Amino acid sequence: MTKNNNIKPIIGLEVHIELSTKSKMFCGCPADHFAKKPNTNVCPICLGLPGALPYVNNEALDETIKLGVALNCEVAQFSKFDRKHYFYPDLPKGYQISQYDLPLNQKGHYEMGTKRIRIRRIHLEEDTAKLVHETVKGNKVSLVDFNRSGVPLVEMVTEPDFDNAKDATDFLKEIQLIVKYLGISSADMEKGSMRLEANISISTDGKLPDYKVELKNINSFKFLEKALNAEIERQKEMIKSGKKIVQETRGYDQKKDTTFSQREKEEAQDYRYFPEPDIPPLNLSKKRIDFVKKQVGELPKEKFERYTKELGLPKNYAEVLIQTPNRAELFEDAVLNGGKHKIKAKMIADAMVNAKIDNRFKSGTEIVEELVKVTRKDYSGEEETGDAVQKVLKMQKKAVGDYKDGKTEVLGFLIGMVQKELQGKGNPAIIRKLLSKSLK
Ligand code: ZN
Ligand code: MN
Repeated sequence: MTKNNNIKPIIGLEVHIELSTKSKMFCGCPADHFAKKPNTNVCPICLGLPGALPYVNNEALDETIKLGVALNCEVAQFSKFDRKHYFYPDLPKGYQISQYDLPLNQKGHYEMGTKRIRIRRIHLEEDTAKLVHETVKGNKVSLVDFNRSGVPLVEMVTEPDFDNAKDATDFLKEIQLIVKYLGISSADMEKGSMRLEANISISTDGKLPDYKVELKNINSFKFLEKALNAEIERQKEMIKSGKKIVQETRGYDQKKDTTFSQREKEEAQDYRYFPEPDIPPLNLSKKRIDFVKKQVGELPKEKFERYTKELGLPKNYAEVLIQTPNRAELFEDAVLNGGKHKIKAKMIADAMVNAKIDNRFKSGTEIVEELVKVTRKDYSGEEETGDAVQKVLKMQKKAVGDYKDGKTEVLGFLIGMVQKELQGKGNPAIIRKLLSKSLK
C-alpha cells in the first residue's frame, strides 16, 4: 500500500488546432469547411483516391513555425512527413499524413507565472473528414463529409509538467490567445478549430508512473477542468483501494461529472509509421525560418508587460485589454491618437474597460474624439477659459496690437495660445467668443 502524502497528479496536454490557411494541407481545395455544403470542397487528393499526389502547403508550414517560435521551440531545418496508419471511415487513405520522428518544432517552453511548461513538439498534419450521424427516411445512418479532409492541423504536445487541473486549463487559454494573436487560426472550440486532450496519471513516489489515462473529445475549457478533477479523484480512489489503473482513453460525462472508458490506448507501433514516400523531406533555409520569425509580432504576455510597466495601467485593465487582438489594437490606436490631445492611456483604458466605449466606436481616432469632447465638458468651464484668455492677452501684447491694427488673422494664433494654456481642453467656440469680446 502507498502512503498518501506523496500523491501528486501528473498532467500532460495535447492540442489540435486547425489552421486558417486559404487552401488545404496537400491540395488546392479551400480549407474553410465551416457551414459549407457537404462534399463540395473536395478533389482526388483529399478524397484519398488512388494515384493522387499530395503537395505541401507552404503557408501552413510558415504558420506552424510561427507557433513554434512563439513557444520558444527549436525550429527544424530538416523535417519530413510520415504516414500514420489506422482504420476509420473518416480517413479515406487508411492513413493520416503526419509527422513522427522529425517534427517541425521541438523542445520549446512557456513561462506561466513562476512555472516553466516544456513543449515537447509542435508538428503539422492533416485533418480527417467529418462523420455526421443522422436519421434518413427512418434509418439511422452515418454520412461522411470530406470538406474537412486534408485541412491543415497543428498538433502541440507538452511534457507532463502540470500537477493540477486549473494550471492546465489556464495554460490552454493562454495558448488559444497566442494562436489568435498570431492570426493562424480562429481557435474556436465550438467549431472544433481547437480540440483539447489531456493525459493524466497519479504519482505516488515522485516518479513518473508507468501508465497514463487519456481524456479525449472535450470541447470547452470548463469541461476540461472538470474532467481532469473528476479523473484525478477516480485515480486517487483506485490507488487508495489498491487497484491497478489501466492505460486507456476516457471520455467525460457532463451530467454525471465522471469520466468513462472509451477504448484501450494504441501504442505507437500500432500506427505502423513510415516516411511518406510521395512528399520529399523538407529542407528549410535559415533565411526562410528567420523571415517567418520576424513576422511573429508582440504576443499577449509582452503586451501585458508593456501596458502595465510602460503605460502604467493597472493589471486588471491590461488583462481585459489584451483579451482579444482587436481590442488591444484599438486601444493602441487610441493611445497613439490620444497623445496629440493630451488624452492619457489610463483614461482610454478606463473608458474601454468600464464604459465599454469600444462597443460604440470602431477606431482609435473616434474614441479619442469622444474623450476630448467629454473631458472638455468636464474640465474647461467658461470661467477657467476666461482666465486663460485674460492671461494670454496680457502676455501677447504685440499680437493684440496687431489685431487692433486690423490684422484679424492673429485671432487664430491667440486661440491657439489660450488652448495651450488650457492644455488642449478648451472649447474653441467659447475661446473665440471671449477673445473677440475682450479685443473690441
Ligand atoms: Zn482537395
Ligand atoms: Mn494528431
